Amino acid sequence: MPILIVGAGLYGTVLARALADKGHRIHIIDQRNHIAGNCFDEINAHGIRVHRYGPHIFHTANGLVIDYVKRFADWHDYRHRVRAQLSDGTLVPLPVNRETLRHVPQERVIDIFFRPYTRKMWGVPLEEIDPSILARVPIDPDAPDDYFPKDPFVGFPIGGYTAFVEEILRHNKISVALETSYRHGMEERFDYCFNAMPIDAFFDFDLGRLPYRSIKFHTIDLPVSRLLTHPVINFTDDGPMTRVTEWKNFPGHGNTASWTSLTFEEPCADHENGFERYYPVKDRDGENRALYKRYHERVPARMRFIGRTGLYAYLDMHQAISSALALADDVLS
Ligand code: UDP
Repeated sequence: MPILIVGAGLYGTVLARALADKGHRIHIIDQRNHIAGNCFDEINAHGIRVHRYGPHIFHTANGLVIDYVKRFADWHDYRHRVRAQLSDGTLVPLPVNRETLRHVPQERVIDIFFRPYTRKMWGVPLEEIDPSILARVPIDPDAPDDYFPKDPFVGFPIGGYTAFVEEILRHNKISVALETSYRHGMEERFDYCFNAMPIDAFFDFDLGRLPYRSIKFHTIDLPVSRLLTHPVINFTDDGPMTRVTEWKNFPGHGNTASWTSLTFEEPCADHENGFERYYPVKDRDGENRALYKRYHERVPARMRFIGRTGLYAYLDMHQAISSALALADDVLS
């Protein structure tokens, strides 16, 4: 019997391909009308590539993952350089380095760069968020002007993420059904089910909801060639937006001279955005993790939860791939 995978995001598709390569028949369903999950991208009316669910910059130091992604796409080389905008409009490097500290004294760094942004992003004071989240953006005077300095591989698939995921799925043992939601019992026709749906939704929220942060994306198209000096600018103010992305500033994302497209991000709770779940909330006290574990203990035999919402984990793309490959190895052995 075939294997069912719920969710055609990166985790599910990488897992599907690894199992299909070993001869298993895989059926993937996804409730959305497209593959690629939250890294889905498309070309807009002005010929500019936009990531529908916010900017996805692929970065990794994992050799296995680098080899893997090169199998399915050629990649644009890239180094991600971000600026933060201060209250007087000055743009300074982020993560905070020596150049940033020429503009902001060390003792004000947390209050300027982290406190307002984290409040907007997570909806709670910085003290309530697990420190590992803030540690994603370290403060280091010696750091280069680079958002992912430890990752030798940073880039975008030539042709986009959607085409990259399509390539992963191009296998005669994989079938995909879009606009198809999981229904209880559908796994009975399968040997096994890997499930990327929100684990609390699977159990009809009977122990309560796992909270997520969502983002409202506000995209504007303007009849000018280019507006920003950098692809991403983070805001340090108390307003609702965390950052803006100018898509053309990423390699391979469009080169029309007459238009540019920008997307502003306004974080909110998932219930304020139609339960679009983007970021699991890792609270400092681990309460959400504890609730996840209570759900996890009840997962039926022959089912395993995967992906950001199935694992309730803040996985980057490279982590989704390495985790999916490790799971496939584990299952196959
Ligand atoms: N962060 C911040 N100020 C910034 C950038 C990040 O306070 O200018 C904090 C914030 O809590 C954020 C976390 O660091 O959620 C991780 O940032 P990252 O850029 O890795 O987030 P992502 O790109 O995944 O949304």
